[in-house]
Amino acid sequence: MSKKDSGWTHEELRASVESYLDIQRRIREGEKPIKKRYYERLSEQYGRSIKAFEYRMQNISYVLSLQGREWLSGLTPRSNVGTNIAVQIEDMISRIESREPNPVVAFETKVKSALTNKNLEKPIGNEAPKRNVSSISDFERDFKVKAWVLKNANGKCEFCSNPAPFETNSGIPYLEVHHVRRLADGGSDKIENTVALCPNCHKEFHYGINRKEIVVELYRKVPRLIFE
Ligand SMILES: [Zn+2]
Ligand SMILES: [Zn+2]
Repeated sequence: MSKKDSGWTHEELRASVESYLDIQRRIREGEKPIKKRYYERLSEQYGRSIKAFEYRMQNISYVLSLQGREWLSGLTPRSNVGTNIAVQIEDMISRIESREPNPVVAFETKVKSALTNKNLEKPIGNEAPKRNVSSISDFERDFKVKAWVLKNANGKCEFCSNPAPFETNSGIPYLEVHHVRRLADGGSDKIENTVALCPNCHKEFHYGINRKEIVVELYRKVPRLIFE
């Protein structure tokens, strides 16, 4: 956790998230809320700088962007947020919106920080990842496996070799990490069963008419893969 993240109480974090969602709601309803007024009010109430709240709002944008959701224009996602705070933000959003939590943030922020680790070791992963009972993401995955596979792919699809189509808000080339033998079919969560694909190739492996054939080709192309 970075120094900047420390010392934020649950209450001020929650007030920030509530403000953020309130601004979003008003905009959807056709109003023109002034963001700065919100920061000023929060700043007065909690004795932090206006800038501190603006940055925090950008962290909230980041959490929303990890969930693939809309964020407020003018508040570009800032990924410099500790996992702990990011997870709290995610949790607060789902509570305020009274929806089931779909936790992706803890996993993705760990992937991101592992990607910047120069000595990222080849992970062992899990032969038989545990099923999550309560969560929407069905399996307990190892963030190191995803990070290692992404890093190893170096921004290129491991099947068609094309570069990732865009960068994410975290500054990472966007590739999708795919388990060759599906976890739901008993596949392992190990780098020997996992590849980084561009979205087109990924969809083809799931829905393409030739998916059986291309899997054979994939095993040939990516020598680290071990047939399961
Ligand atoms: Zn591809
Ligand atoms: Zn997949």
